[in-house]
Amino acid sequence: MLPDAGNPAAVAYFSMEIGLESAMPTYSGGLGVLAGDSLRAAADLGIPLAGVTLLHRKGYFRQRLDGQGRQTEAPEVWSPEQFLEPLERRVSVLIEGRQVHLRAWRYLVRGVCGHEVPVYLLDADLPGNTPADRRLTDELYGGGPENRLCQEIILGIGGDAMLRALGHTDIGTYHMNEGHSGFLTIALLEEDLGGRDADAVTEADLEAVRRRCVFTVHTPVAAGHDTYPLDLLERFLGSARSRLAARAGAVADGVFNLTHLAMAFARSANGVSMRHGQVSREMFPGHAVSAITNGVHAATWAAPAFAELFDRHLPLWRHDNLFLRYALGVPPEEIRLAHARAKEELLAAVAAVTGVKLDMDTLTVGFARRATGYKRAGLLFSDMGRLRRIVRRGGPLQVIYAGKAHPRDESGHALIEKIFAAAAALRDVVRVVYLEGHDMALARDICAGVDLWLNNPQKPLEASGTSGMKAALNGVPSLSVLDGWWIEGHIEGVTGWSIGEDWQSGSDDAAEARSLYDKLEYTVLPLFYNRPAAYTAVMRSTIALNGSYFNAQRMMSQYLRAVYDPPPAGDLPPEVAPA
Ligand SMILES: *Cc1c(COP(=O)(O)O)cnc(C)c1O
Repeated sequence: MLPDAGNPAAVAYFSMEIGLESAMPTYSGGLGVLAGDSLRAAADLGIPLAGVTLLHRKGYFRQRLDGQGRQTEAPEVWSPEQFLEPLERRVSVLIEGRQVHLRAWRYLVRGVCGHEVPVYLLDADLPGNTPADRRLTDELYGGGPENRLCQEIILGIGGDAMLRALGHTDIGTYHMNEGHSGFLTIALLEEDLGGRDADAVTEADLEAVRRRCVFTVHTPVAAGHDTYPLDLLERFLGSARSRLAARAGAVADGVFNLTHLAMAFARSANGVSMRHGQVSREMFPGHAVSAITNGVHAATWAAPAFAELFDRHLPLWRHDNLFLRYALGVPPEEIRLAHARAKEELLAAVAAVTGVKLDMDTLTVGFARRATGYKRAGLLFSDMGRLRRIVRRGGPLQVIYAGKAHPRDESGHALIEKIFAAAAALRDVVRVVYLEGHDMALARDICAGVDLWLNNPQKPLEASGTSGMKAALNGVPSLSVLDGWWIEGHIEGVTGWSIGEDWQSGSDDAAEARSLYDKLEYTVLPLFYNRPAAYTAVMRSTIALNGSYFNAQRMMSQYLRAVYDPPPAGDLPPEVAPA
C-alpha cells in the first residue's frame, strides 16, 4: 500500500514532541500535549494535515521520587509496535558528513467524523547507522547540545525528506510548532535552489520559502530557544547549509539562533495567548507576531463523569465544542455529582499509589505541571505560619502535586524537594501528596478531580498554560496569576479568582503569596464551606464560559482562517491586545 499519503495533506505540522496517547512517552509537557490536541482537533475539523515528530524510543524519562522528593530518572522504554505502523520507506539526512538513515512509523489520529490525520515518527535506529547515530532519536530533550542539534536536523531536514518520500508532495503550508523544526526551511530553500550556491540566493528565493512556512512560538523563556556556536552548526549541518542559515539572518556574532531561522522564514508568526503575542513582539522586534490563544481537546480532557454528563445534556459537544456554552442549562446537582465522581476516582488513585487517604469533603487544590523555576511550585508554602492560620480559621485544605523536572534542571529538582519538605512540616495541618510520573492520564485525573486549580507562574513567562483549561472543562475553577490564557479566561468569582490584581506589572513573590493567601482565606474557603451551591455555580459557569472557548477546535479553526489560509497580504486581521 506504500508509498501512500493517505489523505493528501495541505498542511504539514512539525513538532519535536507530540502527545498522541498517554502511554506513548513522546511528549514532555504542555508543548507536546498541545501539539497532540492540535492534531486531534484538526482531525475533528477535517483539516488535511500531516504531523511530523521523532519516535523517542526511550521517551522523555521515567520519574522516581524518594522519601525526600529527590528525583531520579530512568529510560521510559516502550514498544512502538504496539501503537504504530512501521513504514517501508527510508530516507537519509547528512549529519556531520555522514548519511544518517531514517525510517518512519505512522500513527493515525481519527477525528470525531472519521477524518484521519497521519503522524510520522522518525526513527534512526536502523542497522546501516553507526551505534551512536542509532540512538539519536531515543531521548526527548536528552543529551547535550550536540545531540539536540542532531535531533533538530533530523526533525526539520529528515522530516521534509520523509514527507516527500511518502508522497506528500503538495504541502501548501509547513507549520513549525516551536523553533525546533526550523531546519526544515533550509531543506525547502535548498530544493528551490537546485544546486545554486548560498551566494546566489536572492530575496525572491527567500520569499518563495517564506510563502510556505508558518511559525508558532511557545515561550518567552530563553532556554526554550536553541542557540549554537557557528562552528558547532557548521560541523553538524555542513558549511553549505550553514551559509544558507546565515544568508537568512539567523547568525549573529558567531551564534546561530534556531528560533530566528524559523522566524525569518515565517509568512506568519504567532504567540499562544494575546498577552504572549505582545511579549513576543517585544522579543522579536521587526517581526509581525500575532496571537492565537491555545485550547485543549475537549473530548480528550473531559473526565468520564463529565463526558457522560455532556453526552446527555449537550449531545453535539464532541462535534462542536461551542455547545459547551449551554452547560449553563445543566442542573447544578448534576454538575456536583459528576464532580464528586471525578474527585472520588482521583482520591482512590492517590490512595492506591501513595497510601494516603485524602478526604472527600476537604477543599482539594491541584498543582501539576513541569517542575521548573518560573512556575513557582512552592509559592503556597512561602509563609507556613499564615497557611496554618488560614486552615485553622477557614477550614481544612489538602493539596495534590505532580510534575517532572528536566534531568539537567537542578533548580527544578530542588523545587520538588522543597515541596516534600513543606509537606513534612505541615503534616498535622495540611495534607500534601506529590504523585510520580506526570503523564496525560494523571494530568486528566488531577485536573478533573480537584476542587481548585492553582497556577502561580512568574509574569510574563507563562506563554499560555493549558492545564487550567483542562480543569475548566471539568468544572474546576482556577486560582491563578494573571498571565497567559488566564488574563482572557478570568472573570472574578465567575470562572475562578486571580492572584494579584493586574497583568501588566512584573511578579513579586511576597505580594503574590499574600494575594494567594488572602483569596484562599477570604474568598475561596468561605465559598466552598459556607456556600456550596454558590461554589457549584462557579463550576458550572467555568465550563460554559471557558470550556466552550479555550478548546482546540476553536484554536484550530482560528489557525485555519488566519494562518493556514491567510487573507491576501496587506489585509491581515488586526493584532488585538488584551483589555
Ligand atoms: C496539560 C499538561 C501540561 C501543561 O501544564 P501547564 O500548567 O499548562 O504548564 C503539562 N504536562 C502534562 C502531562 C499535561 O497534560
